[in-house]
Amino acid sequence: MSECIFCKIVNKEVPSNIVYEDDLVVAFRDINPQAPVHILIVPKEHIPTLLDVTEENKHLISRAYMVAKEIAKKEGIDEKGYRIVTNCGKDGGQTVYHLHFHLLGGRFMTWPPG
Ligand code: 5GP
Ligand code: ZN
Repeated sequence: MSECIFCKIVNKEVPSNIVYEDDLVVAFRDINPQAPVHILIVPKEHIPTLLDVTEENKHLISRAYMVAKEIAKKEGIDEKGYRIVTNCGKDGGQTVYHLHFHLLGGRFMTWPPG
């Protein structure tokens, strides 16, 4: 996926502020943070949206959530709380078509989303 910005970040072809990496996922700070803590957790594999999750790759979701939990602790937002968001498709507000999980915290989150 040569044109995918998150694949480029995963492959270190473009710089990013990486806070965590393992064999399956990478986590880095969002370039346009919407909260004091705003980190994106992405599978290394190029999966465009939640609609493309399959039996073969669904384990990447649980890995991403477990990593998010550990990052939340490290960032000191675990006690007060945080939010994990995945936007799917146009109406979901997705702008980058490489599956990712927003980890947001450090302020009170309103509901519902806009
Ligand atoms: P989406 O709108 O698809 O749910 O989220 C995409 C997110 O990726 C946005 O929050 C946006 O700020 C972030 N983003 C887009 N391009 C880059 C980039 O090149 N580097 C980083 N760190 N974040 C990016
Ligand atoms: Zn990609």
